[in-house]
Amino acid sequence: MTVIDLRSDTVTQPTAGMRDAMMAAPLGDDVYGEDPTVNLLEATLAGQLGFAAGLFVPTGTMSNLLGLMAHCERGDEYIVGQQAHTYKYEGGGAAVLGSIQPQPLEMEADGSIDLARVCAAIKQDDFHFARSRLLALENTMQGKVLPLAYLASAHEFCGLHGLALHLDGARLFNASVKLGVAPRAITGHFDSVSVCLSKGLGAPVGSVLCGSEPFIGKARRLRKMVGGGMRQAGVLAAAGLYALEHQVARLSEDHANAQALADGLIELGYSVEPVQTNMVYVDVGDQAAALKAHCAEQGIILSAAARLRMVTHLDVSCDAITRVIEAFASFRSA
Ligand SMILES: *Cc1c(COP(=O)(O)O)cnc(C)c1O
Repeated sequence: MTVIDLRSDTVTQPTAGMRDAMMAAPLGDDVYGEDPTVNLLEATLAGQLGFAAGLFVPTGTMSNLLGLMAHCERGDEYIVGQQAHTYKYEGGGAAVLGSIQPQPLEMEADGSIDLARVCAAIKQDDFHFARSRLLALENTMQGKVLPLAYLASAHEFCGLHGLALHLDGARLFNASVKLGVAPRAITGHFDSVSVCLSKGLGAPVGSVLCGSEPFIGKARRLRKMVGGGMRQAGVLAAAGLYALEHQVARLSEDHANAQALADGLIELGYSVEPVQTNMVYVDVGDQAAALKAHCAEQGIILSAAARLRMVTHLDVSCDAITRVIEAFASFRSA
């Protein structure tokens, strides 16, 4: 019985083609700037997203941290959504390591932050206040795709108010595939973008931060400072390059599987939030622990939460979705 792990799209195993690409990658010492595979990954992704430079880092958390620290000085603040990864799920790193104050704001149902709310939160130039310096958005946000018109408004707004605009694009490619646009149509609105290779793209490790030459120069110094300067990292970057070439278009399969899962659960009477990309949120109330145990017996790994998140990815097939729906059905009728 193959195990179906729906906790996250981080759980994927490198595909055979990806492993071959990793084995074959030419390598050098990346701290000296001499790893050809890392250099190629950085240039490829930066070019694709419309930026002058890129920086390969071990994790999305580090990528966002370096982005925030490269934009903000000590005593500056960034404006961010209450549920955003850069605020809630990164150990408070911007504040702890960067001395950057977060200004979290309530978010709208579509994953955006109302720009009138952002405007009201921007602090006047007054020594009582931290200096408002940056707006950080996330796309996809809990599986939701931010509307392109909103991104254009946010870009214009930040220009008017002297804020930089950063995107936590951990799942940028899920957004671009869903919209059927080039990723540049999204990233063109931002001053910097962080992309995860280790989520739906299926690489074992790695993120890339993209921005201008001086911005990435600053981030490169900070990467060394926080211990993220890796040596023959091309063995990992090769997985990212392979993913960009072979595992982007297939994200639409994950989206279709998520929709099929949602449809099946709705048919069973569950309350399921509308699906946009590869995440299904279902209300399981106080049944979370029992459901998790029931599914575990059938080789299906779930998180346990009343608002249960299930994530599809390249190790979840169509047949797997049928098995999951059957497991929910047998739980319901038990
Ligand atoms: C996973 C994730 C990150 C951080 O990635 P890690 O590689 O796990 O540190 C950042 N932002 C979002 C939205 C994520 O989902």
